[in-house]
Amino acid sequence: MEKAQCRYCPADAIYTRGHEGASFCSKCFRKAVEERVRRTVTENDMLKFNDHIAVAVSGGKDSLTLLNLLVKMENRFPRSKITAVSVDEGIRGYRDEALDIARKACEKLCVEQFVVSYHDLFGITTDEIAGMHLGQTPCSHCGVFRRKAINRAAQMVGATKIATAHNLDDEVQTVLLNMLHGDPWRIVRSGPVLHDPRGKFLTRIKPLCDIPEKEVVLYAYLNGFDFQSITCPHGNAALRNDIRNFLNQLDQKHPGSKFTLQRTAERLRELLSQTAPVAELNECAKCGDPTPHQLCEACMMLDAIAA
Ligand code: SF4
Ligand code: ZN
Ligand code: ZN
Repeated sequence: MEKAQCRYCPADAIYTRGHEGASFCSKCFRKAVEERVRRTVTENDMLKFNDHIAVAVSGGKDSLTLLNLLVKMENRFPRSKITAVSVDEGIRGYRDEALDIARKACEKLCVEQFVVSYHDLFGITTDEIAGMHLGQTPCSHCGVFRRKAINRAAQMVGATKIATAHNLDDEVQTVLLNMLHGDPWRIVRSGPVLHDPRGKFLTRIKPLCDIPEKEVVLYAYLNGFDFQSITCPHGNAALRNDIRNFLNQLDQKHPGSKFTLQRTAERLRELLSQTAPVAELNECAKCGDPTPHQLCEACMMLDAIAA
């Protein structure tokens, strides 16, 4: 069978984008991903020339791709700074390996890495929570703690923004999850840039939100990034997995469906943001973090664990 040719040069194509029908060679594909990320950053006004970005780096393909791309972009802005922040959730045989991969990647890129652990911050690890059999998986606790840990780490290093590596698939899955949980306001509080109008939380940006997961994997592979490929031993988020499989099937049959869903979510966000309630924030009675309640979610969880 004759090989397809790259749309942009005479080289053989290695990948075809289903939704565009465009084929790319390795070099042009990498360039296309980099340009798309640059466009996402510019269109959403994600970065300023002097930002200190705390990049959440777990050691997986997404976070290492994000770190490499941001380092490349920020090289043009001498007053900007990048610090990698990594979270040790305390998952033996999994996170330790990932942290090691993240450390080596940071060394290679000459990026400082700052690591915080659940053990030090919260006095408990995800393995220990899993052992308590509080629910189906420890993911609900682990997710809330991770958000808080990344915030803490970013504050500790003096960052002005937090960059996370959510890709297109993550974003669209989250929109459907929120719909299935009956929580439309969460759709408003998600998106490419999470900016707190009250100024209590650092702005979070998602520069990879327009890149499908399979393109992140391919980009990481073509660039020879070493990344962790085993999955978390506790990870069994049944509903998210079902949504992932459903979206992949849908997108295979109807290329571009994920992008369409993302655009629909963007329109819903615009419409709902007019009426979305903006909660008053108090200081958490235990840790002092901003919260609409008396205790923040993490402290509530820690209290429930201790009870
Ligand atoms: Fe934590 Fe669940 Fe992710 Fe494992 S899969 S790291 S337990 S959120
Ligand atoms: Zn090419
Ligand atoms: Zn708290």
